[in-house]
Amino acid sequence: LPASGLSASGSLTIDLGALARNWRAAHEASGTARASAVIKADGYGLGAVEVARTLAKAGCRDFFVALPSEGIAVRSVAPDAAIYVLNGPMAGHVDAMADAGLIPVLNGPEQLALWAQAGDRHGRPLAASMMLDTGMNRLGFDEAALDALAPDALQGIDLRLVLSHLACADDPSADMNIVQRARFNRMRSRLPDVEASLCNSAGIFLGPDYHYELTRPGVCLYGGSPFIAEPAPFHHVVTVGAEVVQLRRVPAGETIGYGATFTAASDMRTATIAAGYADGIFRAAGNRGFAAINGVRVPYVGRVSMDLVVLDVTALPDGAVRPGDQAEVLGPTISVDDLAQASGTIGYEVLTSLGSRYERRYI
Ligand code: PLP
Repeated sequence: LPASGLSASGSLTIDLGALARNWRAAHEASGTARASAVIKADGYGLGAVEVARTLAKAGCRDFFVALPSEGIAVRSVAPDAAIYVLNGPMAGHVDAMADAGLIPVLNGPEQLALWAQAGDRHGRPLAASMMLDTGMNRLGFDEAALDALAPDALQGIDLRLVLSHLACADDPSADMNIVQRARFNRMRSRLPDVEASLCNSAGIFLGPDYHYELTRPGVCLYGGSPFIAEPAPFHHVVTVGAEVVQLRRVPAGETIGYGATFTAASDMRTATIAAGYADGIFRAAGNRGFAAINGVRVPYVGRVSMDLVVLDVTALPDGAVRPGDQAEVLGPTISVDDLAQASGTIGYEVLTSLGSRYERRYI
């Protein structure tokens, strides 16, 4: 659909310069550590290949994806980078991962065995990393799994990195951060002395004790808030525009949209735009979200439909908006987190939900 542009319902513009500046800001905030880039879920919905190409040029040497297929796609634009696959080696993809030089994050003894067997087939131990479960209880080796490892268990792999993931990095006062860091130090002291990584975007701002050799920023690269207390040094990256399809006058007492959830208190003017929940504007943002027209915030009125949202443009001068104009759904005025908040979700979900009907443009 987006290829022709003709059937796109709106435009999704990705500012690669801002993306590179955000990575540099994360890299600088990482002190003596270097920043990688987390580009899973197709670069948080913005296009992993374009993101990786841009950040590799900016100096990023390490990328994290979730799935083998994502890593293989990225390899073509980052031939020399370390590409880590967070979900680990998956049956049926192991040899393709090895051929592409991907580095799995080994999340438990089964994955370790799978990767060691792949090494046997390739005639040498293959590069790997290990996830240590320090409290997320989601994936990774916990202390019991380390206890159970045979003494020679790691000989079948070429261990390059140990990592863990913080559950509460966005809350600097959470004791959980201290607990996880202590567990991480204890657990990694039982393993070969390789590079270590603990921080996501928010974790970087917990300070140098958390940085180790490699940090793993994701959302802050794409203009989403990492929920840090200090003013964020990150720029907006994504602009979503949707075309105004129609302007209407709605008399006082009339209702708008499905369920008649909004009633005009007085005569009003509305603009109906060509984007809806099929494009990633959550239905929950009905009657709560804002778009912007010429930099002025205008509220969503009524429920969000599949392909349409109605905006209250009464506050704009008559004639200031016309059919065919672009409304800003996301951009300099409406941040990813504004829309997330109106939708009762987080910026991550907004970014990764931006639909396939948008024509993606990279500037
Ligand atoms: N590291 C791991 C293991 C992750 O799963 C993620 C994303 O969820 C990140 C780093 C990046 O996190 P953030 O987007 O909060 O920076």
